[in-house]
Amino acid sequence: MRFTRVTELLSAVSRPTLSLEFYPPKDLVGFGVLGGAIERMKPVRTDFASCTYGAGGSRRDFSLAALELLLKMGFSPVIAHLTCVGSSRADLEETVARIHALGIRNIMALRGDPPQGEAAFVPAAGGFAHASDLVRLVKSLRPDMDVGVAGYPECHPESPDVASDIARLKGKVDAGADFVTTQLFYDTDAFLRFRQRAVAAGVAVPILAGLMPPTSLKGIERAVALSRVTVPDALRKALSEAADPEETGLAWLEGQIERLVREGVAGIHLYILNRARPLLHPRLARALSLLRGNSIA
Ligand SMILES: Cc1cc2nc3c(=O)[nH]c(=O)nc-3n(C[C@H](O)[C@H](O)[C@H](O)COP(=O)(O)OP(=O)(O)OC[C@H]3O[C@@H](n4cnc5c(N)ncnc54)[C@H](O)[C@@H]3O)c2cc1C
Repeated sequence: MRFTRVTELLSAVSRPTLSLEFYPPKDLVGFGVLGGAIERMKPVRTDFASCTYGAGGSRRDFSLAALELLLKMGFSPVIAHLTCVGSSRADLEETVARIHALGIRNIMALRGDPPQGEAAFVPAAGGFAHASDLVRLVKSLRPDMDVGVAGYPECHPESPDVASDIARLKGKVDAGADFVTTQLFYDTDAFLRFRQRAVAAGVAVPILAGLMPPTSLKGIERAVALSRVTVPDALRKALSEAADPEETGLAWLEGQIERLVREGVAGIHLYILNRARPLLHPRLARALSLLRGNSIA
């Protein structure tokens, strides 16, 4: 059965879901490469896919074009990310309408980061300062859409402490969010503590665990820059001593997935950076098979 809304899918299945996150290519060649990567990923049964959002004229158009590609390649549900960066309320209303017109019924509502070189987030004129404002906007404009929000197992860098970070997350759920997808993490204990605190604070929606294949130390450093994401010493040591860092990193990811499945995670959301290779690696096949009867054909 095919679903258009993530919540329909999550409530219809009794196993953790597998979802993939893509980013919009910058040109036509990139779109061709992405189409080829998705084609190669097809043997891996995924439940849904999302595409990140780049604010501003052409970047927004590339995000929308990438969403069209995901639909064309057969993903359903598809989640469109949307940020408040540089957009007035009217701009956001227009973008929500364009996403809805594509047939997409899921929006990941985000505030976005300050532009490079700026220390603090400044809302656009007539725009929003917090993701919770965008959640409310989408829900009021399109009650037929699901809304996801970001969660931070190791705290958002601007949050003064864990308690206020969790309280803000609860605020986004109270504003109408239907599910949470987390920032990537390599320390599974951090996710489990976060989930426990969120549930204790009254966050009653599914929490999807965001994981990125840690296939090189350099890649990890890039991914965690400017965040509070920690790289466990054991992972750092294993990668720095590994003859085959890809194999070593994927073994770490496999361990994370196995543990999360044992701990009853709602879903695994993989930040795969548009690459088919880690997904198809034999190392991941067994871990992925734990996710609702998933198997590599
Ligand atoms: C799963 C996921 C997907 C992402 N996708 C994208 C993407 O597609 N494009 C992109 O540009 N970025 C993306 N990001 C990055 C995201 O935009 C940044 O992490 C950003 O800094 C915060 O966005 P947010 O939606 O969590 O903001 P918010 O929930 O608004 O939180 C930002 C900060 O403000 C605080 N805060 C929240 N509400 C209030 C309030 N009412 N009063 C005072 N403080 C408050 C929070 O505690 C937090 O410290 C993604 C992040 C994640 C985890």
